[in-house]
Amino acid sequence: MKVTFLGTGTSHGVPVLGCSCPVCRSSDERDKRYRSSVWIEKDSTSIVIDTGYEFRLSGIRAGIGKLDAVLYTHAHSDHIMGFDDLRVFTLEKKLPVYASEKTLDDIKTKFPYAFIKDFFPGIPMCTGNVVRGYEPFCVNGIEILPIPLKHGLMEVYGYRIGSFAYLTDVSYIEEKAYGFLRGLDVLVIGALREKSHPTHLSFGEAVEAIRRIKPGKAYFTHINHETSYVDINAKYMPVAESAYDGMVLEV
Ligand SMILES: [Zn+2]
Ligand SMILES: [Zn+2]
Ligand SMILES: [Zn+2]
Repeated sequence: MKVTFLGTGTSHGVPVLGCSCPVCRSSDERDKRYRSSVWIEKDSTSIVIDTGYEFRLSGIRAGIGKLDAVLYTHAHSDHIMGFDDLRVFTLEKKLPVYASEKTLDDIKTKFPYAFIKDFFPGIPMCTGNVVRGYEPFCVNGIEILPIPLKHGLMEVYGYRIGSFAYLTDVSYIEEKAYGFLRGLDVLVIGALREKSHPTHLSFGEAVEAIRRIKPGKAYFTHINHETSYVDINAKYMPVAESAYDGMVLEV
């Protein structure tokens, strides 16, 4: 399975519009972070988790040629606002979208035209599929497990596919979830910054979770502009490594 990071930034992206801090002015390409999203390829199946504002740009950069499914973690703007650009992948058949009932309701409220019964090729044509926490479902025979997480007071889903798990926008992992995260080769976990935050894990809190989960490798994503790629790795490797846009993992 191949995992490509389409974006690794928090909701503002990095650089932040209007900011002139050292990280926002960094010439290191790895300090340029689109809104967080990953592209997963397994055999001939192509799946994206979340479609933020830069979905089109990141998909062009990564070379996404087709899509079989989209999984949504939650419906915050930085995870869904690239939705309309899915339409290029829905010209011949409807594209299945998977999310919790609440997330799917929110997406349908924002993009109601994408879920109409008739087929019209000028807009994204999707089917909405409700999935439930800890109940696995399949896309082209690939088993996917939604893992409920707390993002402040909101429930979001992480997704486990085989020995890979993607947990973004998380501030608390419940005991039950830890039981479903054993035996991972790769864990991607949202870690916003050094300081604590009400709706995201800090780097230190993410490290505590990694120490409990004990994956083969762990990567931070959904990172803000306060710490550079180089500084994150200097402090947290080998326990965790900062993901960067365009990074490719073989799982
Ligand atoms: Zn987010
Ligand atoms: Zn900045
Ligand atoms: Zn969020």
